[in-house]
Amino acid sequence: MKKRLTRRAQEMIARSLPHFPELNGKTITVGYTRKHLGSASIIYRGGKIVRLIIRLKVRKLTYQTIGHELTHLVQALIRGNRPQIDSIDLPEIPYGEKPCDIWTLARHELFCDDPPTYIKMPRIMRERWLDYAEPVRRLCIAAIQQRITRRLYIQWLETEVGKLAKAAPRRQTFPAQLSLPFADRTTSTE
Ligand SMILES: [Zn+2]
Repeated sequence: MKKRLTRRAQEMIARSLPHFPELNGKTITVGYTRKHLGSASIIYRGGKIVRLIIRLKVRKLTYQTIGHELTHLVQALIRGNRPQIDSIDLPEIPYGEKPCDIWTLARHELFCDDPPTYIKMPRIMRERWLDYAEPVRRLCIAAIQQRITRRLYIQWLETEVGKLAKAAPRRQTFPAQLSLPFADRTTSTE
């Protein structure tokens, strides 16, 4: 049985896509999943990408999940169909789940409404994520810079993230106008 996307999910996707210029002009099929927060599939035919699919669990859908799955599509696009996207100045995103989290958080604060799944962090940070979202995002941006010279940039990031948790939450020292997109967690229906 086919279900339609909730209006809320549609709006969240529409708000997310402008932050992914790499996906401009691409058709993305959006479906549901119940098993995971989300998944991304890339269908190849004759070595070319012919279809981009993301599946989302709409209950408690977050921008973090949408961003993560869209980042997976970008990871695939960088490797497939390369000649067609050479004109776009693509930042290289390495394959893998942790890079996907890092590049998603770094991309925009919109995608920092929920903790990432794969980056290792102390439980307190997951429980009080909104206290830590902005400094963790800054560390992700720094890690991407580190990667140019430091092969173990993910280890570096996770060490720095761990240090953050040992310090007191620093929400008040970050700009008061920081506006994270608090998701409305009550209105989604499947
Ligand atoms: Zn993933």
